[in-house]
Amino acid sequence: MQGVSFPRMVELDAVTGLPPRKMLDKDLPVLLRAMGPPGLPMCAIMIDIDHFKRFNDKYGHKIGDLVLRHVSSIIRKSVKFRGEAYRYGGEEITVLLLNTTGAEGLVTAQRICSAVGNSEIVAMVKGKEELLNVRISLGVASTDTVAGSEVLVCADQSVYKAKSFGRNQAVLFKKNAGRFYATTTIDVHFPGTTSIIGGTYILLKKWFSRGDISEIEARVIKDPNNDTADFAEAPVPFFGVVEAEIRGKVSAIERHKGHTYFKFEVKSEIIDLMFKYIQDANNANN
Ligand code: GH3
Ligand code: MG
Ligand code: MG
Repeated sequence: MQGVSFPRMVELDAVTGLPPRKMLDKDLPVLLRAMGPPGLPMCAIMIDIDHFKRFNDKYGHKIGDLVLRHVSSIIRKSVKFRGEAYRYGGEEITVLLLNTTGAEGLVTAQRICSAVGNSEIVAMVKGKEELLNVRISLGVASTDTVAGSEVLVCADQSVYKAKSFGRNQAVLFKKNAGRFYATTTIDVHFPGTTSIIGGTYILLKKWFSRGDISEIEARVIKDPNNDTADFAEAPVPFFGVVEAEIRGKVSAIERHKGHTYFKFEVKSEIIDLMFKYIQDANNANN
């Protein structure tokens, strides 16, 4: 196909043994063009090693490199002839799969996830053999639902979701999950009283989600319209409490027995940011 055949015979990245990022940048537009006219889908899988920093911190950079190479090799083997795996950067790997729908790409991603999770890495640590466990998170997007050049961004967005859902899993990008909607409405519970009113923009300053991002609990609300802040003295979970502001428009306020419930309309990009905040808040605690 227009000079692209798999596996790519190019100079490989020294650490991972994969074609480097610049090759991905070159191949992607060529492959998109080649898939376009026959109307065939193409899939991107973004992969990020879970808690990779811990390997470096605990065992040193050399063993970190070994883990990275091990994972890369499993991934490359599992997509042989159907596509290619590239080193995107750091401990992130991108897979491109030709003639692959999102649903098929998700199956491949799940297989890669298990293959890596079930693999064994034996490392010599201080003269002793030690078995290392490595896990990955994967995001999948296909041109069957996403405009060609958006596949990488959308796949990456799904990696954040996979991380926030608990890592060690693959998530398929869905159009209505963010980005393509102008706004998204979230249900907020604030276990306290507040003077906020419907139709105004407020900031949530301390909040957390209970698994599903569409329902969150707030502990600190700031109302910039009259420069007030309300605090709720209710328990918070051990992990995932975010202390970063998110802005949104309030509607449908209900006040009941000292609690406040309302709808919170945010720009859809904020949802990505919220996932990132939750991920960071989880990381900070483990
Ligand atoms: P998460 O599960 O959220 O992805 O956590 P993480 O620790 O994997 O994520 P983070 O992005 O905080 O850390 C990535 C680390 O990868 C930091 C960087 O030092 C390390 N890294 C990047 N490239 C290499 C490399 O080539 N070799 C080694 N040994 N480490 C690398
Ligand atoms: Mg990373
Ligand atoms: Mg990582």
